[in-house]
Amino acid sequence: MRSLANRLDLCSINTATLGHREPLHQVIDRVARAGFGGIAPWRHEMEHADKRAIARQLRALDLKVTGYCRSTYIPAADTKAFLSGIGSNRAAIHDAAELQAECFMLVVGGLPDGSTNLHGARRQVAEGIAMLLETAAECHVKLAIEPLHPMYAADRSVVNTLAQALALCDELDPDRRGHLGVAFDIFHCWWDPLVEATLVSPQASGRIVAFHVSDWLRNTRDMLLDRGMMGDGVVQLRRLRELVERTGFEGLVEVEIFSRDDWWQRPADDVLSTCAERLQAHC
Ligand code: ZN
Repeated sequence: MRSLANRLDLCSINTATLGHREPLHQVIDRVARAGFGGIAPWRHEMEHADKRAIARQLRALDLKVTGYCRSTYIPAADTKAFLSGIGSNRAAIHDAAELQAECFMLVVGGLPDGSTNLHGARRQVAEGIAMLLETAAECHVKLAIEPLHPMYAADRSVVNTLAQALALCDELDPDRRGHLGVAFDIFHCWWDPLVEATLVSPQASGRIVAFHVSDWLRNTRDMLLDRGMMGDGVVQLRRLRELVERTGFEGLVEVEIFSRDDWWQRPADDVLSTCAERLQAHC
């Protein structure tokens, strides 16, 4: 297992951690100045930016893009809406290629409005990812299926465990062609009684393409916007990183903290210095 001591070059900041309070080019400068080796931007930030200039800036600062966030939700109420979502995701995969992102994050979506067909939504997800895989291969971009905590199954993701995400990978990419994997986010996966056994199984080998850290606060007040800083919660972060790295993962450790009432209220440079300290002390 790698040591993160004095190795901020092995660490990355998801821009959500800073609360999306500044234009992307300023956030990029700030993250690079703080010494991190990578960054993970969001599509809505890119929409307000000059994409080519952002790509040039990232290369000039030698920042890796550990992920591009994130997909348009896949399950839809009708074919037209489904294909519209696929089209939107295809365009985003091209942008991920321009950024030379390690992967495009698939937060696959929950149930379409008015639907109770969970199984059907999951089949739409499989069908949609199969279609996107063609674009991913053309663009040389990896798709990272991110299982989300089951509390989001209705509205954000019908993929809810690591084992389920890996099974999708096996189904859609049995020959392991290199464009499909899983994003392992400790916030979503820490509670799962099968997570350790799954991580050490041959199925997980080589499939983890992104690793996100934060912490689960014992007294979580908001299911979306109250993630903890590493070390403030109950997750055995170092243990999980060890298991993730045993699968062959060699990417950067990405901090992703949604924290509306706490960390997003603090000065950005203070948040970054705390991330740096906690990554080395707790991850
Ligand atoms: Zn994540």
